[in-house]
Amino acid sequence: MTEMPNILWLEAISKDDIPLVGGKGASLGEMASVGLPVPKAFVVTAQAFRKFLVQTGLEDSLFDLLTDVDVENSEELEDVSRNVKNLVLDAKMPDDIKEEIIQAYGTMGPDNMVVAVRSSATAEDLPDASFAGQQETYLNIRGDAAVVEAVQMCWASLYGARAIYYRAKQGFDDRTVNIAVVVQQLIRSEKSGVMFSSHPVTGEPLTIIEGSWGLGEAVVSGSVSPDKYVYDRRLKKVFDRMISKKEYMIVPIGDHGTELVEIPNDRQEEPILSDAEVEALAAFAEISEEHYNVPQDIEWAIVGSTIYILQSRPITTIGMSTKAKGTGGQSTGAVLLEGNGASPGVASGPVIIVHDIKDLGKVKEGDILVTKMTNPDMVPAMRKVAGIVTDEGGMTCHAAIVSRELGTPAVVGTKKATKTLKDGDIITLDGEKGIVYEGAASVAAAPAAVMAAAVPGAAIAAAPIITATSIKVNVSLAEAAARAAATGADGVGLLRIEHMILGMNKTPGWYISQNKEEEFITELYNGIKVVLDAFPGKPVWVRTLDAPTDEFRNMLGGESEPIEHNPMLGWRGIRRDLQSPDQFRMQIEVFKRLWDRGYDNLGLMFPLVGHPDEFLKAKALIAGWGVDVDAVELGIMVEIPSSAILIEDFCKAGISFASFGTNDLIQYTLAIDRNNELVSSMYRPKHPAVLKLIRDAIAVCRQYGVECSICGQAGSDPKMVEWLIENGITSVSANIDAIPKIRETAARTEKRMILDAVRLKNA
Ligand code: PEP
Ligand code: MG
Repeated sequence: MTEMPNILWLEAISKDDIPLVGGKGASLGEMASVGLPVPKAFVVTAQAFRKFLVQTGLEDSLFDLLTDVDVENSEELEDVSRNVKNLVLDAKMPDDIKEEIIQAYGTMGPDNMVVAVRSSATAEDLPDASFAGQQETYLNIRGDAAVVEAVQMCWASLYGARAIYYRAKQGFDDRTVNIAVVVQQLIRSEKSGVMFSSHPVTGEPLTIIEGSWGLGEAVVSGSVSPDKYVYDRRLKKVFDRMISKKEYMIVPIGDHGTELVEIPNDRQEEPILSDAEVEALAAFAEISEEHYNVPQDIEWAIVGSTIYILQSRPITTIGMSTKAKGTGGQSTGAVLLEGNGASPGVASGPVIIVHDIKDLGKVKEGDILVTKMTNPDMVPAMRKVAGIVTDEGGMTCHAAIVSRELGTPAVVGTKKATKTLKDGDIITLDGEKGIVYEGAASVAAAPAAVMAAAVPGAAIAAAPIITATSIKVNVSLAEAAARAAATGADGVGLLRIEHMILGMNKTPGWYISQNKEEEFITELYNGIKVVLDAFPGKPVWVRTLDAPTDEFRNMLGGESEPIEHNPMLGWRGIRRDLQSPDQFRMQIEVFKRLWDRGYDNLGLMFPLVGHPDEFLKAKALIAGWGVDVDAVELGIMVEIPSSAILIEDFCKAGISFASFGTNDLIQYTLAIDRNNELVSSMYRPKHPAVLKLIRDAIAVCRQYGVECSICGQAGSDPKMVEWLIENGITSVSANIDAIPKIRETAARTEKRMILDAVRLKNA
């Protein structure tokens, strides 16, 4: 039997080599082997890792430690993970493997090239997709010793607590899971973007290239309006070019991060690509399409005069849309389901039903995720899919909030999607109307980049509408910050930090019990900083933690969360923080560090406050932890009727601002569970009782000169916003997708009110 190699260069790898090089390694290899200019890379194979385990004698001791670990016991899990990782890190890498890595690295390029070292895990018969994000990637690695060390660190990351936990939950035997490591040249693109080898809607041989200055995330995330070039592959010429004003670019900072910086004026309207570059990119698109035999969605980058192809994957929508062509309508089939249109956009694709965490590995790019209700564990899968459909939930449920932030079309609260639909069914969902149709749409379920290009930012920037009412935006995920900023919003009227915290997969209590507060603080600090950086000089109201106990249940440490009969009415918001000073202090430490770093645009907002005493208590605690409370903005959410009724006392207690959390205010005023689709028809934002509470509270805030805002979902409804402005609200915070229509509504309402006043005076 021939011995398996320790090292493979990309060119020698094909898509069938997953067991040897993992999913990531195999797809890069396939691209390189057909002549696409993939950044130079080699893979330290899974067999090298196995040899390491065998030759160091680790195999038995390591798997003995892993056998019978109770993954639900977070202390035990952490201990075992730490011990196993230390075993891997402390063992001496066999000389032959080490030398081969150093030799391969030496031949990659001159002068200690800077590389990324990425894990590419694989289980039997399974690409690494299901383990995505569980193992580490190390960027900006340079030098022999650092590369060897990073490879060993990737190996050790196979035994991170989270990775062990997920494998156990998904039913994988640790012994069958392998890890390969990709060592790849790091590209710091001067310009980059995405392209479709063929037209994403009609399938014609028109290559559509979008790009902007800096790193590709700017285009993919929609934070800039990119240049667009259309190349006709039949005529072999550039058929159309639209040069847009590119105000921002994303550039790397430090070891891991990126930042959004302004593009100098003289480069903003400069075309990023010459005709020759368009032609060269289109040629690579054609190679890729011919090789895979299906139109491709490709990420590209250019440094100097060198083009790189970073990723190529099928455009799943073309085949479907051409099939549906000629029907002329929005969609081809019967209405299958109706629910709430929670995140706008149309998406088509095959259904994948997710019952629990075990199913997440099956979710592929372009699928339509169908589930009872999403939870934080599903966010990585939600990033991949073309659309989301749930049985449960209303406009303010987890699925609705996260899909709006990700810009993914979603229909929630269909009551029976998981029963009516089956894996593989092709469906189309309309996230505006809240309808799910049979079959694929004739209007394209545009791939993410096309949707992103349609993000409102550019149009707004080109023709700013000035409103006296501040139009702010709601943000929950750091990755949505750039898209949110691109809307030109006047600030962030609600940053929900619980989504960042739920994404850490460990409860705050876990960090406290493990003495790992610093880890929590650093992670939250970094997440919030991304949002603050995206809104320089504009107010960002960060809300302290507000997650009901049931949302913590699946996280590490979740087993210690109390079981409540009614978590919505239970231990959440400021109530919990006031009774859990350690948890509150960890959050305040984050804000304190940000204020100390000069982020004086950060304001703090307390959720679920019911009495002014709670505000005063929170303020006193914060002052006791060394914050100059008179120098910072401290405000409240008005989301319990008691806080609306007592608003004058709150003003007297010194709040800097108040913001209506109508999602809760409606449920608590009307006794309608906001997440229960059985009563959703009775969930009425414009119920006279709700309007009365809001109108009276606005009037009091105005009297005291306190800024009064709204950040609940009703703030994204133009009719409601018209009413709020007529009744004196000073600012409105809406969802990213709603900003253009809300800004327009505000402008019209304000003008009409001025006109009415003038007419009245003249009458
Ligand atoms: C609200 O209650 O309106 C609100 C914005 O907070 P959340 O939706 O996070 O409860
Ligand atoms: Mg609320």
